[in-house]
Amino acid sequence: MKKSSFVKIGHSDVLATPLGLGTNAVGGYNLFPNLKDDDGRALVRAALDNGINLLDTAYVYGLGHSEELVGEVMKEYDRDKIILATKGAQDFSSGEQVIDNRPEFLTDQVNKSLKRLGTDYIDIFYIHFPDHDTPKAEAVGALQKLKEAGKIRAIGISNFSLDQIKEANADGYVDIVEDEFSLLHQDHLTEGMLDYLHDHQISFVPYFPLASGLLTGKYDHKIDFPADDIRSQIADFTEPRFSKVLKAVDVVRPIAKTHQATVAQVVLAWYMQNPLISVVIPGAKRAEQVKANAHALDITLTDAEYRTIEQVFNGFKHTTSGKSLADPE
Ligand code: NAP
Repeated sequence: MKKSSFVKIGHSDVLATPLGLGTNAVGGYNLFPNLKDDDGRALVRAALDNGINLLDTAYVYGLGHSEELVGEVMKEYDRDKIILATKGAQDFSSGEQVIDNRPEFLTDQVNKSLKRLGTDYIDIFYIHFPDHDTPKAEAVGALQKLKEAGKIRAIGISNFSLDQIKEANADGYVDIVEDEFSLLHQDHLTEGMLDYLHDHQISFVPYFPLASGLLTGKYDHKIDFPADDIRSQIADFTEPRFSKVLKAVDVVRPIAKTHQATVAQVVLAWYMQNPLISVVIPGAKRAEQVKANAHALDITLTDAEYRTIEQVFNGFKHTTSGKSLADPE
């Protein structure tokens, strides 16, 4: 149950720290508006200065702007020490979002991401969402060609169902899967996805690991988010589920106290000790949050503490009421 300093990504030779930085707030204009560019750059620096080597971005985060900011900051550091993950599959050329996994479109997306990031290779490239028509193995085959050409080092897919993952992995090329999973959203565990990935040496990265801040322990009462904050619409922050979550989070508090840590750090440490999880990518809005979260790398929970947290959140699943934050349409 002890975490190691680096995690090997799938069948690739990419070595990532078990804690990464989610950058969907960097560059703005995505789920969360109004983060200034300088604050975005500061988040990335805080990660790289505090023992985190994996940066998770995507074209759709600010329609390329997150990639540009991450790329700018990367130039201040040793490129070889950074694991850069990005994603693509969205076409906005018609004015509306269309998901496209055709090989020529994905190849173009990778080339455009390389340009925005100002680098000549991407460590992990994910197909951000599956489209309706492209055979999954054909889409992944295009990424395999890019891997062979040295443009990407590991092949990822995101937001694919278990059946779609199996189809995509027909030739055994998939290295890593990113999907929603947290102590509050354990459906993939109960539905067998995580076991499949583990059995096929495919790394798993859960997104929304802190349930958009709810699992940091900072909420103890009903919060009124501004109307443009998507959290005002999601079920986790709505009764009766909200109170149940708060009760479960309360069980983490004494464990955090024992480690002189925060609830967020303990929750992140729990993921890092979970053998079905490879890299955790909490997002942040402020550099101090990133710095604080990085301390999770120093925490090792006892088996009893690990099991207590597992048991108290056992059975929390995705809710069908409320909006999904990850919905592409
Ligand atoms: P998250 O990691 O569950 O929550 C992050 C939020 O929690 C922060 O923005 C911050 O929000 C709060 N927070 C973080 N650290 C904190 C701390 N130490 N103390 C107090 N509050 C803290 O959600 P996320 O950032 O939306 O998602 C994580 C990453 O997953 C994204 O950045 C992105 O890279 C990835 N993602 C991928 C997909 C996909 O389709 N593949 C979809 C969604 C996300 P406040 O300060 O506003 O409370």
